[in-house]
Amino acid sequence: MNIYEIQCIPKKEKKFDKASLIGWLAALYRDGQITENYLIFRKKGCYTAVVSGYHKNFVERNCDIQESFKKLSMCCHIKIKKKGKDVDSIQKMCKCNPSPYYIMKCDNQFTRDDSPFLCGKCHRAVPLYRFPYIKDQEHYVIRCFDSAYRGIEDAWYHCQGEKMETEAEQQMADIASDLNVEGRNICNQLEKKMQIPFYYCLFSYEQAHEKCPGCGKKFREEEEASFCDGCRIVIAK
Ligand SMILES: [Zn+2]
Ligand SMILES: [Zn+2]
Repeated sequence: MNIYEIQCIPKKEKKFDKASLIGWLAALYRDGQITENYLIFRKKGCYTAVVSGYHKNFVERNCDIQESFKKLSMCCHIKIKKKGKDVDSIQKMCKCNPSPYYIMKCDNQFTRDDSPFLCGKCHRAVPLYRFPYIKDQEHYVIRCFDSAYRGIEDAWYHCQGEKMETEAEQQMADIASDLNVEGRNICNQLEKKMQIPFYYCLFSYEQAHEKCPGCGKKFREEEEASFCDGCRIVIAK
């Protein structure tokens, strides 16, 4: 991921519309083009945003992005500069086209706040904007699920020995939990749209699994993970 600086220089006699800048960044985030941790600062009447993203040519993929950008460009000149590489980002981007399959893995340690999808061939992250929308003209449903998952994972980490730890672990490890049912549902919808298998990574903490907790059949063992092709489940080793 790269860090970009987006400078908004107000046009003469126009009042700067802060809401359209915020709206544009939020729409880019919901579309998967930038991460959530963007900053906006003001200096001498000029607004600048600093964002993490994959490319500086932000694509107007939906009407939210289009409309907020149109409004923003009416009140200011926009200059986008690449400032450098995000050194805290551990993910490298997948360039396979097509990928044989995808894995959805929401995980604070591994994927931070980028895309939760990994390519089955190169195991790199696949930016959200490369996937079709499953609800409305944005990826908000995936962004929300990913945040919820990470929140639960955080609770599991930070509430050791407490009731919250057990409940969080149950949400992540039980194939029938609300969390996992929703995650698998997202994978299922994407698979239907793209006609490419989407596996859901089921959390497992120091627990060996020989059989799939969904159908009871033996896993197909690969070097780094166990797969159930019927249930589209993956458990990392
Ligand atoms: Zn790939
Ligand atoms: Zn199964």
